[in-house]
Amino acid sequence: MNYADNDFLALAAPWVAELTPYVPGKPISELERELGIRNAVKLASNENPLGPGPKALAAMAALANELGRYPDGGGFELRRALAEFHGTSPAAITLGNGSNDVLDLIARTFLQPGVESVYSEFAFAVYPIAIQAVGATARVAPARNYGHDLNAMLALINEQTRVVWIANPNNPTGTWLAAAPLRSFLGAVPKSCLVVIDEAYTEYVNEPDFPDTTHWLETFPNLIVTRTFAKAHGLAALRVGYGISDPRLAELLNRVRQPFNVNALAQAAATAAISDREHVRATVELNRAGMQQVSVGLTALGLEFIPSVGNFVTVDCKRPAAAINEALLQRGIIVRPLANYGLPNHLRISIGLEAENARFLSALAEVCAA
Ligand SMILES: *Cc1c(COP(=O)(O)O)cnc(C)c1O
Repeated sequence: MNYADNDFLALAAPWVAELTPYVPGKPISELERELGIRNAVKLASNENPLGPGPKALAAMAALANELGRYPDGGGFELRRALAEFHGTSPAAITLGNGSNDVLDLIARTFLQPGVESVYSEFAFAVYPIAIQAVGATARVAPARNYGHDLNAMLALINEQTRVVWIANPNNPTGTWLAAAPLRSFLGAVPKSCLVVIDEAYTEYVNEPDFPDTTHWLETFPNLIVTRTFAKAHGLAALRVGYGISDPRLAELLNRVRQPFNVNALAQAAATAAISDREHVRATVELNRAGMQQVSVGLTALGLEFIPSVGNFVTVDCKRPAAAINEALLQRGIIVRPLANYGLPNHLRISIGLEAENARFLSALAEVCAA
């Protein structure tokens, strides 16, 4: 190899050299520093505007004196609580440093150069990154009405396909799949292909035919369901999520998992949060009202949006959204541009507190009038 000094790119695995990193929502502190302002509003990362519930906060406070010790690497209490919540065995649970970590564990365990992995256009940006980071080949199915087209996805699955990724509901579109089509899709996928159903926003959905696919694990042993504490449970900063699957799949995922991937505060808070039904109820109710407020406000401005069952809504600006995003930032409002999803005219708005939603809508009205 003809190596030029410090050409580190040439040293990287070729698929890593071509990888584009994930772009997170801009932190509040960063915008405040840049503009020299205070009380910026962040509606960019689908966080819970209520934050953690009282049970999670108390559990974390009680742990302060034990932080000198490593966490329980097996996550015994949290896996037991999750197993009880889902009516499964603790052996079915894989804990992750966020559900993103579980998605990554799945990629590292089952993908490699020469195998394929299928996801949908406009699906969560982490799937292509997880696939490419391990050198597997991505196959992208075209979306239908911004959502997953299960027939198009099925058409891309072959003997080389090891993992197919489905977000239900999907981020950033807020679209969702009903039980019947999703179940027949699972029935049609070959047993040699794992199906990951990412249910990060499941708590927010109030549709009668929306599935809880954790109930399907015995019927479909190639199914892995992922959940997170980052959204409805309000614990985004702690980084904690999990997978539920056949214990034999979980055992493989646990081989590549870092021994202490979920920290002690996260384990304690999540163990308390999973039984805090009242906090989830208040969160979902706030979101329902906020979604109504934002939808009415957008419609009043003559803007179209993709109907969403999540805690966010994606707006079609009908012109390049980058300038609108910039103008909102200047007014202290952080939302999420979606050009990296192939949606350059769209902005995704997380539903916040009533006052935050109102500030967003009035800033947007100003920007649209200008
Ligand atoms: C936010 C989100 C996640 C959760 O990520 P964490 O790593 O648990 O914070 C997973 N999937 C989708 C589709 C999401 O939008």
